[in-house]
Formats: sequence, structure tokens, C-alpha cells
Amino acid sequence: MISNRELFLKNTAQTSNSPRLLEIERAEGVYLYGPNGEKYMDLVSGFNVSNIGHRHPKVLEAIQDQLDRFMHVTVYGEFVQAPQVQLATELLEVLPNSFQSVYFTNSGAEAVEGSMKIAKKYTGRRQIIAAKHAYHGSTQGALSLIGNDEYRASYAPLLPEISFIEFNNIDDLANITENTAAVIVEAVQGEAGVRVPSKEYMQALRQKCTETGTLLIFDEIQTGFGRTGKLFAFEHFEIIPDILMLAKGIGGGMPLGAFVAPKEIMDVIKDNPMLGHITTFGGHPVSCAAARASLQVIQEENLVQDVERKANLFRSELNIPQIKEIRGLGLMMCLQLENFDQVYQVSNYCANQGLIIDWYLHCETALRIAPPLTISDQQIIDSCKIIKAGIAKFC
Ligand code: PLP
Repeated sequence: MISNRELFLKNTAQTSNSPRLLEIERAEGVYLYGPNGEKYMDLVSGFNVSNIGHRHPKVLEAIQDQLDRFMHVTVYGEFVQAPQVQLATELLEVLPNSFQSVYFTNSGAEAVEGSMKIAKKYTGRRQIIAAKHAYHGSTQGALSLIGNDEYRASYAPLLPEISFIEFNNIDDLANITENTAAVIVEAVQGEAGVRVPSKEYMQALRQKCTETGTLLIFDEIQTGFGRTGKLFAFEHFEIIPDILMLAKGIGGGMPLGAFVAPKEIMDVIKDNPMLGHITTFGGHPVSCAAARASLQVIQEENLVQDVERKANLFRSELNIPQIKEIRGLGLMMCLQLENFDQVYQVSNYCANQGLIIDWYLHCETALRIAPPLTISDQQIIDSCKIIKAGIAKFC
């Protein structure tokens, strides 16, 4: 019989020449299980998705309840669907008052696409500024914002009138002018290798956008839903962006994204032309039901409040000389090593020892650590033991 691994290589599109090839049969909490009794601790949360762990019982219950009612019924924006309406309301309740309207998408990249469209239409301007080394997704609009030529070159031409500034560089803010429709930045740059900007920078960015009438769009697709020790990372900087983009951790493991804006800005998509931004599956009711349960779990289990303490435990357990630097905000962390070979060897070693860690798209010299926020102290200690053993062997 042909194995699933062979069929994966033969029949599904490959995104690299060296896929991980771990076969997963089941997942629960912080663990993934393979078909032959393998057990892995998941220290990357499916890339910042499983903030509340895999298959949280409250999420499963909400999904089952919604399955018993209805699944897809119409394109987004036509019928009143309770899971969407309730989720939008609950999101707006935990956000500042300037956020008044939620558009649900299927993914992060689609939240980016929609945000760019409303920014252009609302301001009447065309220029969009992004940050060097940014990652915002793989669709053509989002790809246009990737601050890394290597990823853009093969797919050119991309969107016109996109320019780039240095992230966390106050002098570069001079490039934002009255011609700029929007500045799109990650609250903390993820794929660049977890680059945490200063509060001073973010406040200066906010001020420059306000002065020039430019919309400030925050990508909180990796940083949202407690990951950094606040429900949303913009809270660290004591500023409020104009548009907030969400995905990954929002859905409790189900596919969902959103962009959130003041009503006046969001309303530009409803006419001239009407139906100018639509999606068939965006805001799928089962995903929205899961997201409601997930947000409730984050709140009821006080997960955000414990992030900083858990991050500090990682930091103290991993305080060894071979790790050049631990960058991070909350449980969005990276361990800076010397080269990709070390990163590759250590992450393979960890996988063989039952621990999933990874690296970052634009920073292959650092290990990615972003566990479910539900990880216990003992699990942190156990995982650090494996990482340290790997580092001792290969660095
Ligand atoms: N923005 C950031 C910061 C991301 O990390 C990602 C995905 O990794 C995206 C946007 C795109 O999200 P998606 O893969 O759901 O399209």
C-alpha cells in the first residue's frame, strides 16, 4: 500500500524541497501525535494559531453546536448569521471604541488585501508604505508588501506605488507624506526573526500618520490574541492603529481572518460599486463559533496574564552562552544562533526527541518558539532541556 507520506509528495503541491514530513494523526493541548505512537510537544502552535492549544474542549463543543445548526449558507455580508454577529460584537467589546466594524475573511492575506482596498478608497490616495523584512502573506497584494526582494522578484509585476521604510527607524518616517494612503506594519515583526519595535518608534509612527492623514494599519496576525502578553500587541505601545488585521489565533484552530476599522472607513466598500469586496466563505459560521469559544477561553482561563511569567521561565531556562540573544515579546520568541546549519540541526534533533520548533522565513539563523499559551511550567522546563541538549550537540 502507498503510504500517506508518498502520496503527500506525489499528489499534493510542495512548497519546498525539504518538507518536514511529520505525519499527524491526532492533536490535543500542546501535543501532536503520529500514526505509530509518536508524540511531539508543539512549540510553534502551527505558526501562532493554536494559542489555546489544539482541540480545546470548549472550541469542539462550540463547533459541534454550530454544525447541528448550519454551515455555509451564503456569501459573506448577505444573511444575518448569529456566530458572525456575536463574534464581531465580542471583538469590538475588547477593542478601543474607535474600532466599530468587522469584516471577516478566511485568512490573514485576505485581511491584508481588504485593508489595502479600504485604505485606498477612503483616502483617495494610492501609495502604500510597508516595512523592510515584513511578511504579510502570499497573495499578490500582500506579497507586494513583503520587504524582501527574493520573495517578490519571481512574481513581478506586483502592485505599483508600494515603498518600504526601515522598521523601528524614526528617521525613515519622513517618507510618509500626504500622498501616503496607509502604512502597514506588523506590531512585532515575526518572520524577520521577532523584531520588537520601541514604544517611542510606534508612537512617532502613529503621530506621523495622524499628521499626514495616513491610515495606520497594524498586522496583528501573529501577535494577536494574547501571544505577546496583551490581548493585542498595540496595547504595549499605548497607541491605537486605524485598521487592525487579525487571523491565525482568532479561530481557535479554524480558518478565519478579519480586518477591523472605524465604521466611516469600513463603509467605503458598500457602494460605488456595491459588492466591491466580497468573499464566499469569509466568516464561515463554524469558524466564527470556534472563534467565539476561543476568545472566551483566553478570557476565562486568564491566559494573557500568565504569558510574561511563562516567557521569563523560558528565558531563565535558556540562559546559555550558545544562544546569542533571545528576542521576543511574551510567548513570541526566537533564539538567535550563529547560522542556519545550527538551526537546522537543532530543530531536527528536537523533532527526533519529540519537540517541534522551527525557524523564521526571513531569519534562518534563529529558532522559533511560540508555544500554545496554555503550556505548563513543567512542559516549558522539559522542552528547554531538549533544546539545550540539541544546542550542546550542534552549536
Ligand atoms: N501577516 C503575518 C504577520 C503573518 O505571519 C502571516 C502568515 O504567516 C500573514 C499575514 C498571512 O496570513 P495567512 O497565511 O493566513 O494568509
